[in-house]
Amino acid sequence: MSDTSTALPRLLEAADTGAAPDAKDLLAVLKSPDPELMDVVAAASRLRYRHFGNRVKLNYLVNLKSGLCPENCTYCSQRLGSEADVLKYTWLSTDKAAEAAKAGVAGGASRVCMVASGRGPTDKDVERVGEAIEQVKRENPDVEVCACLGLLKEGQARRLAEAGADAYNHNVNTSQRHYDDICTTHTYADRLETVEKAKGAGLSPCSGLIAGMGEDDEDLVDVALQLRESDVDSIPVNFLLPFDGTPLEGTWELTPRQCLRIVAMMRLAHPATEIRLAAGREAHLRGYQATALHIANSIFLGDYLTSEGQAAAADRELIADAGLVPEEGNTLEEGRSKPQPRKRGAGTEAAPNA
Ligand code: SF4
Repeated sequence: MSDTSTALPRLLEAADTGAAPDAKDLLAVLKSPDPELMDVVAAASRLRYRHFGNRVKLNYLVNLKSGLCPENCTYCSQRLGSEADVLKYTWLSTDKAAEAAKAGVAGGASRVCMVASGRGPTDKDVERVGEAIEQVKRENPDVEVCACLGLLKEGQARRLAEAGADAYNHNVNTSQRHYDDICTTHTYADRLETVEKAKGAGLSPCSGLIAGMGEDDEDLVDVALQLRESDVDSIPVNFLLPFDGTPLEGTWELTPRQCLRIVAMMRLAHPATEIRLAAGREAHLRGYQATALHIANSIFLGDYLTSEGQAAAADRELIADAGLVPEEGNTLEEGRSKPQPRKRGAGTEAAPNA
């Protein structure tokens, strides 16, 4: 029997009993051959539907402060010395932040993620973000707010919680072993400590990864197991968008099938945890986006921090076409476009669609 066919029943049994998954079985998922890819998807999908039914959580990013970061994370278009052509601006006003949040909520988001570039906030920054959170909560009482401001100092998580933040995001991004290859201005331990500070203040911990940064399959399994140890509530799965002007420019190491295996591996390692398709899903999953939504239960709507996502309307169509519904219960129209008569190729003078 292949590794996949022995690994999947063991992983499903671990999911049933709440036992920790075996690292070797998670590795077998990442190494599964193409003819067994749909077996992997089916197993992971079973857990998704067991714990989340046909619901999808829609999240919306508000970039409060973009670019000009002093840290040197190699994957990041906002890093020290980045020549990437991304927006650079300092703190949005409270009103502008609230306005951006409102647009996301109108688009169907039930969580707004308020993010700022930088190593970590000053106390004054936390006050400023706290005011923005208070306004967003006043205007949208049912919406969850997640803050993502980098490494936190003592007391800052508590202040964010007092302002009404529900969650704090700080991605571990990769394995401890691989971390020094992608960043040297802060450590993996720094990142884990911030996740713990958020938890200590009662904020729901959100932490995930970026795949496609030169890591190997063992690193991805280590991340999955680390996030179990950190007991996080939500896991954004990002796929590297290798901006020109960053050290990882031109790094395209993933196939859509491998991205699907990564999402499935995360689900099998975290049966009941929110798994979110995050930046890079359009470029990397490509035709498998809808399939991935039968494994993941959460998605970012619209644009990312420094890159454009597909149109929010296309996201909503993707969800509706997959037979899924947003968490807050809005119904979405299935995507339908009228047939367009062909006016190119054979029988015309126009270039063929080939
Ligand atoms: S700390 Fe955050 S904003 Fe700064 S370079 Fe790293 S990932 Fe980018």
